[in-house]
Amino acid sequence: MKLPDSLNIEFIRAIPKTDLHVHLDGSLRLETLIELAKAQSVELPSYNPEGLKELVFKDRYADLGEYLHGFQYTCAVLREPEALERVAYELAIDSFAEGVRYIEPRFAPQLNASEKLSIEEVLLAVDRGLAKAKSEINQRDPIASGKEPPFDYGIIGCAMRKFGKTFSPYYNTFIGCHRYAPVSQVFPLASMELVQALIGTRDRRGVPVVGFDLAGEEKGWPANAHRKAFEYAHQHFLMKTIHAGEAYGPSSIFQAITQCHADRIGHGTHLFASDLVEHIPSSERESYTEALVQYIADRRITIEVCPTSNLQTIPSIGEIANHPVKRMLSERLSVTICTDNRLVSGTTVTEEILKIVTAFQVTPDILRDMIIYGFKRSFSPLPYVQKRAYVRRVIDYYQKIEGEFGITSPNSSLYKKSLPLG
Ligand SMILES: [Zn+2]
Repeated sequence: MKLPDSLNIEFIRAIPKTDLHVHLDGSLRLETLIELAKAQSVELPSYNPEGLKELVFKDRYADLGEYLHGFQYTCAVLREPEALERVAYELAIDSFAEGVRYIEPRFAPQLNASEKLSIEEVLLAVDRGLAKAKSEINQRDPIASGKEPPFDYGIIGCAMRKFGKTFSPYYNTFIGCHRYAPVSQVFPLASMELVQALIGTRDRRGVPVVGFDLAGEEKGWPANAHRKAFEYAHQHFLMKTIHAGEAYGPSSIFQAITQCHADRIGHGTHLFASDLVEHIPSSERESYTEALVQYIADRRITIEVCPTSNLQTIPSIGEIANHPVKRMLSERLSVTICTDNRLVSGTTVTEEILKIVTAFQVTPDILRDMIIYGFKRSFSPLPYVQKRAYVRRVIDYYQKIEGEFGITSPNSSLYKKSLPLG
């Protein structure tokens, strides 16, 4: 089926969008990274954008390890409140400039903390930057006059499955305090300390911390080691999203959902890879995976798909046409398209959505569902009634844009039941 010509980059840029999976420390402006590094005497392999793109922030990476290499530089310049405030502000401004109306920046405050900067101070600095951008954006017409839905955000704190010395001075302090414990037990303790700080900062300082995440190397560092921290988040009404199924199979996703109460899944790329299921006889792996997919579909557990990042960290996928998002959509899972890292993956929300729309001939109704799901399944800090009203405004605005681009009503018979994805 031929898609309307109007379902193009201009349309995708114009529609209201979310970015629910965007790492603050992977999304700096390149020029800002260089400026901050110079000001703070942080060593970079190059001090011009072209050099850094050639050496660090590439189009293609050998594997997840090479992909993560650049974070040592970005984290190193993000240990001062002014720097955190600035990059948070710029992320919000850059996102809004391409039509993103709601973001949930995530970061691991323990990589930014130091003896001079507490986890709470890290969170406060990021919030100052985001709040400043939000206030500026929402004072502009046509938002101020009520013609367009406003910009908003919520903060997600990332615990780490593990992290290394080079990434964090905090690590040395923390490990030093627990030097007689096996390292596999120390990281879960760090997660517990983080979740308490997140909830404390939310409750005492009014910072919109809306979610708790688990990031870092997946294989060999299971989510269930951190289940007490996630249980604590659960008991304190903090939403949960977990990086799972990126470097490991369906059992990792199962663990995230059943033992850590995940409301959303980061990536979930290997969701259908039944051959990666362990501890189950091979004859039952297929049915186990099917049951997991069914559960995720039924519970509307949203999968945060980051296409470019997935292709970069899992080179075996090859090209976008092979990405499992195709099957996720045809199985009618709740999917939201995100950037992961605007700098490290060299992308934007608009580009990510365009990639999916083009590769899988996503129809206007499926695209609309997917975009609106981003708003519905966000961890918005708004009270529920206000969140519903906000989503309603977004839908109305989305339909107005569709009208302007001559896109047929999403419920028209032309697109009804059309699913050229299977
Ligand atoms: Zn991520």
